Amino acid sequence: MSEADSLTIGTVLVSHELMCLVQYHGHLCPELGIGYRVSKIAMAELGITRENSLNFIAGAANSTSAVDAIQYMTGCTIGKQSFFIEDTGKHVYFFAGKPLHPVNGRGLIIKMKTPVYNPQLLNYEMTKDVQAQLQDPAKLLQYRAAIDVAIRKILNWPDKRLFDVFYANLNGGILKPTEKWYN
Ligand SMILES: [Zn+2]
Repeated sequence: MSEADSLTIGTVLVSHELMCLVQYHGHLCPELGIGYRVSKIAMAELGITRENSLNFIAGAANSTSAVDAIQYMTGCTIGKQSFFIEDTGKHVYFFAGKPLHPVNGRGLIIKMKTPVYNPQLLNYEMTKDVQAQLQDPAKLLQYRAAIDVAIRKILNWPDKRLFDVFYANLNGGILKPTEKWYN
């Protein structure tokens, strides 16, 4: 990304593509960044585009802002019945061609490796009444700065540092906590 087409949100440098996603979602947050990175990996790996998205299914094991990113980026959406959520609060995602191969059920799994962003840790000074404290402009800036650090890591760290990416057989259940690839 050259300086000329770089845009910033807070202290974070974003691409034009990411800026469009932020406009759709309403703000830039760590989970949106995670969904953006996950989408980019899946799109490159499986050749998913918004145009050919009817040939794919996708899913997430959480219902955070990441699922907005994945639906917007890949075109696999709840409305097209090609996006599924089973919310167990994990950053685990899957993508596969539709229909699933009857024998090998080959699907791409993307699991977040590192808890780059931990809301509990981030709020360590704000154990009580976070919203009230955020009325204090100094506290708000501090909070926003901590979030920006997390977002920059999510947007800039190499894929391998952030995610485990592998193929697994999705036949017999997707997003099931008992599946080996899930935990
Ligand atoms: Zn968000």
